[in-house]
Amino acid sequence: PTDTGSGSGTTIFTEMTALAQRTGAVNLGQGFPDTDGPPAMLEAARTAIAAGANQYPPLAGLPELREAIVAQRALRYGTHYDPDTEVLVTTGATEALAAALLAHCAPDDEVIVFEPYYDSYAASIALARGRRRVVPMRPDATGRFGFDPDDLSAAVSRRSRVLLLNSPHNPTGTIFNAEELAAIATCCRRNDLVAVTDEVYEYLTYDGAVHTPLATLPGMRERTLSVSSAGKTFSATGWKVGWVCGPAHLVEPVRRVKQYLTFASGTAFQVAVAQALATQQPWVRAQAARLQANRDRLRTGLVATGLTPYVCQGTYFLQADIRPLGVADGIRFCRELPHRVGVAAIPSAVFYDDPADGLPIVRFVFCKEPQVLDEAARRLADLT
Ligand code: PMP
Ligand code: GLN
Repeated sequence: PTDTGSGSGTTIFTEMTALAQRTGAVNLGQGFPDTDGPPAMLEAARTAIAAGANQYPPLAGLPELREAIVAQRALRYGTHYDPDTEVLVTTGATEALAAALLAHCAPDDEVIVFEPYYDSYAASIALARGRRRVVPMRPDATGRFGFDPDDLSAAVSRRSRVLLLNSPHNPTGTIFNAEELAAIATCCRRNDLVAVTDEVYEYLTYDGAVHTPLATLPGMRERTLSVSSAGKTFSATGWKVGWVCGPAHLVEPVRRVKQYLTFASGTAFQVAVAQALATQQPWVRAQAARLQANRDRLRTGLVATGLTPYVCQGTYFLQADIRPLGVADGIRFCRELPHRVGVAAIPSAVFYDDPADGLPIVRFVFCKEPQVLDEAARRLADLT
């Protein structure tokens, strides 16, 4: 069965990519780009392999990568970390998030997440035997998803231990704004929560929207683990190089968990990502501009099929309510879509505790070549 929260079935991404491959559908489901990252970064990995970077790196990650991560965060956000004690390189953001939860959430502790939430959160919380408490995000009159601070207060209890925040947010495309971040920071401070922030889309922001790490708010650095990865930033989702930054007292328990999950990973990829962080920022900016144009292109295509996509300020994702097409069950719709018109998408219902709460919403990716998006739009037009 497709997993909707227990952490035991097949992920929706695996299911939909397999279906797209079987049916020859245009795959706007799983979020991965169809073009590779900066050529110099790819070359750096090849060179590193040829030069013998093929054995275990240090558990915490190559020093040059940890230094590059620290330098980037200092430059972009003005936050400072000690590369030796406050940075840990992980096997993608997925491992960083799982290890952070295993380290900081004891059985029956509560973890606050904003719903809809990325699918690995439910599974990782379940692995830590924690309890998930959701804060619903809903669209406002403009179509931007946000949350009500009262719902955040209502979700917190004496058992709350961790707050998990993803911004820019998958699947809604929301970038949490100053007011929302202030409410979250206040909640964390008041209730002595550890914040774990998933910032994998930190560079993929559009229309001048600004991503502000929660750790930069007053009193938050000492209680926040900031997670990111190279996958989205450098269009290298298969490299699985991620990291977590935070105060040493929070990072050290994550390091202890990580050492028995994977110990370390991807020496040559770490060499290349370190170089890319330091030298490929112009490429990243150009990529964000391409993605913004792709978002607009997909939006136009969806509008032509009669849909009104929600606001997307960042990420790879555009969501739409499918009810204008005369259907309300997004799970069924996404299972049929590849057969009907040759397009694959993700039912956002899988990102909710109760799938009924997100049932008519479907998520499409736009991290694809313009002609691929155009072809998907042509095929979707057959729905009407
Ligand atoms: N968090 C979010 C919100 C994601 O969308 C993804 C998927 N890329 C991840 C984490 C996983 O990142 P990684 O591939 O670096 O493990
Ligand atoms: N993050 C990607 C998405 O949301 C998928 C990653 C995965 O396949 N697990 O589409």
